[in-house]
Amino acid sequence: MGSISENCDDSISLAAPFRPLEPEEFRKQAHVMVDFIADYYKNIENYPVLSQVEPGYLKNRLPETAPHLPESFETILKDIKKDIVPGMTNWLSPNFFAYFPATVSSAAFVGEMLCTGFNSVGFNWLASPASTELEMVVIDWLANMLKLPKSFMFHGTGGGVIQGTTSEAILCTLIAARDGALEKIGMENVGKLVVYGSDQTHSFFQKTCKVAGIFPCNIKLIPTTREDNFSMSPIALREQIEADVADGLVPIFLCTTVGTTSTAAIDPVSEVAKVANDFNIWVHVDAAYAGSACICPEFRQYLDGIELVDSFSLSPHKWLLCFLDCCCLWLKKPHLMVKALSTNPEYLRNKRSEFDGVVDFKDWQIGTGRRFKALRLWLVMRSYGVENLKRHILSDVQMAKMFEGLVKSDPRFEIIVPRAFALVCFRLNPGKGYDDEIDKEILNKELLDLINSTGRAYMTHTKAGGIYMLRFAVGTTLTEEHHVYAAWELIKECTDASLTKTNIIE
Ligand SMILES: *Cc1c(COP(=O)(O)O)cnc(C)c1O
Repeated sequence: MGSISENCDDSISLAAPFRPLEPEEFRKQAHVMVDFIADYYKNIENYPVLSQVEPGYLKNRLPETAPHLPESFETILKDIKKDIVPGMTNWLSPNFFAYFPATVSSAAFVGEMLCTGFNSVGFNWLASPASTELEMVVIDWLANMLKLPKSFMFHGTGGGVIQGTTSEAILCTLIAARDGALEKIGMENVGKLVVYGSDQTHSFFQKTCKVAGIFPCNIKLIPTTREDNFSMSPIALREQIEADVADGLVPIFLCTTVGTTSTAAIDPVSEVAKVANDFNIWVHVDAAYAGSACICPEFRQYLDGIELVDSFSLSPHKWLLCFLDCCCLWLKKPHLMVKALSTNPEYLRNKRSEFDGVVDFKDWQIGTGRRFKALRLWLVMRSYGVENLKRHILSDVQMAKMFEGLVKSDPRFEIIVPRAFALVCFRLNPGKGYDDEIDKEILNKELLDLINSTGRAYMTHTKAGGIYMLRFAVGTTLTEEHHVYAAWELIKECTDASLTKTNIIE
């Protein structure tokens, strides 16, 4: 390859002016790429769900250096099929039941096209009035769908913002809480600040606290139990806070979760918030996955008590068909966060920001530049309507319920955590011969590896309360009932094979 480009006459191909955005050429390539993506969606079941490549597979397939001269779009597309697609774990496959699904839709895709097409960098109002104001509109729309109190809306006394991920959202709120506390007790006391979660809080929380300067020894994770379905105990929380206060520490922040990543456990928002409020602690509710379900009256109860908290986040890129990345954050007192995060360099000063009291979203996030992500949400809400979004959630839950029924109908299996949303946590527990936890864990690990090695479905596992279990999360956009049935048939097939194999070894 190197020799070809070296033999080429640079002056010939570089003679024409370089125009990287030629509208007609763009139209042509974009059409071809849309066709490629549509075909990928159409044929997605022909690919193994979990990529079967070995680490380093790509290094040997691609040249060591970037091409000296242009290559044709056709050549590049050929390599995408040949080299990239095999290395994809296909998150959009209807047979993907791992982690939590990352859902998508045609509406969000075209919204994303528009966002990318405009490429506006709306750090402040003036830099992109439409982007700022549409974000304010859709964040209120979603708040309304969730029946959040007016105190979280721009239409009321609060407001919200679209962040990339939950980690960023919580980092911003944590910094607001930290700065508020330090203002009272003085910077020199930063080592006294203490924060709370449970042992089921997402692992990003500890990382986020470290980034915010909280001492690792002051990150207190309340232990949970299987008896309590891994939800946070308000009593244990109070005891921990009281002990910390007695030790001279200063509690500032509580991260509660509605729908934990491990098992979709639900903290009792109202009760833990009441405890935290007694100590003037900032309460955040992380509902990255399950929050979307709360647009349905069937699930709204899990947000009861939300009026007692300070901030709340959910990620529509998980369950509201929005593509990555899109995490919505609402706050009761956005000015506290803006105070902690605002900047005012000369080169961004303008009369709108200074005199008209507009929202400058750069002060609501870590970075400066920001994309016009509200378009995705807006297109989704308008194209489908709230009714279809509710139907989409309920249909996933219905499929999960059906899967749960199948698991329960087979005495070799055991449900570990009662299903609340569209995640089923279970394990193979055939009894005789698999008495202790280690044996059960080995058996279930083997089963999971076998299932995933077929490429016909992809599932993941977790461990809570010392129990190793399989997670079956229903809900990629393309999943239908027959995929869930097929996955169950596959699980049974692999179970038979695993049990026969281990019996032979014995
Ligand atoms: C997925 C998940 C996260 C991470 O969310 P992102 O917004 O995707 O970064 C955080 N918390 C919970 C409970 C989650 O399920």
